[in-house]
Amino acid sequence: MSTTKIRTTESKPSRTRRGKRAAKRTRLVQLRFLLPILLVLCAALLVWGLRGHLFSGGPTIENPKVAQLSNLKLPSWVDKEIIPKDSDSRRGEYLEDINGIVIHYVGNPGTSAKQNRNYFANAGTEVNSHFLIGLEGEIVQCLPLEEKSSASNERNRDTISIEVCHPDDTGAFTEQSYASLLKLTTWLCKEIGLSPNQVIRHYDVTGKLCPYYFVNNPAAWQAFQDSLEESLLTTSNQTK
Ligand SMILES: [Zn+2]
Repeated sequence: MSTTKIRTTESKPSRTRRGKRAAKRTRLVQLRFLLPILLVLCAALLVWGLRGHLFSGGPTIENPKVAQLSNLKLPSWVDKEIIPKDSDSRRGEYLEDINGIVIHYVGNPGTSAKQNRNYFANAGTEVNSHFLIGLEGEIVQCLPLEEKSSASNERNRDTISIEVCHPDDTGAFTEQSYASLLKLTTWLCKEIGLSPNQVIRHYDVTGKLCPYYFVNNPAAWQAFQDSLEESLLTTSNQTK
C-alpha cells in the first residue's frame, strides 16, 4: 500500500510534465501553420493600404469630373513645366470638383512667366497656379489640372487658376498675353464644359484687387467676357 502510494506520488508530476510537453508541441505545430497565414494576411493588408501610393503616386481621385481632368491632353502651345512634387507650394491634393476658372495677375511688373514659375518652385513659397501667361503670350503649365492650386482662397477646391504677367503697375496685359488668356480660357471651357460666367476674377472670390486692371476697369473685364463668349461660339478647339 505504501509502495503504491509512493509510485502514485512519483508518477503524477511526470504525467503532468508529459501532458504539458504534448500541449506545447501542439501549440508549436499550430503556430507553424498560423504564422505564415498571419504574415500573408499582414502583407496583403499593407499592400491594400498602400495601393494608392504604390500605383498612382497619391490618394485616389474621388470626383469623376476631376478624374477626367487628369486624362486631358493639353495643346502643344502649352509649355508643360510642372513644378517638382516636393515643392513647398504643391499640396498634392486633388480638386474636389471643377466649377470654374479664376483669373489673376502676378502683381510683380515686368517679370516673365518662367521667373514666376521658378518662384512657385522655390523653397518656402506658398502660392502657385495651374497656368502662367507671359509677356510674349507664352503659356506655362505649372501644376497638373487635377491638383488644387494655392491661388484662389476658398475656390482652390474647385477651380483652375491662371496668373497673367504684366509690364507695369497698371496691371494691364500685353496684347499677346491677352490673346493667350482668351485662347487658353476658351480651350479649357470647351474641354471641361464650363460657361463664360464660370470664368471669374480673384476679386470675385475675396474682393482682392486682382487682376488689378480688370478690377479697376470693369468695362475691360466685360469686354473680355464678351470676347470669351464669342470665342466659345466660333472657335473650334485648337490642339496644334
Ligand atoms: Zn489673385
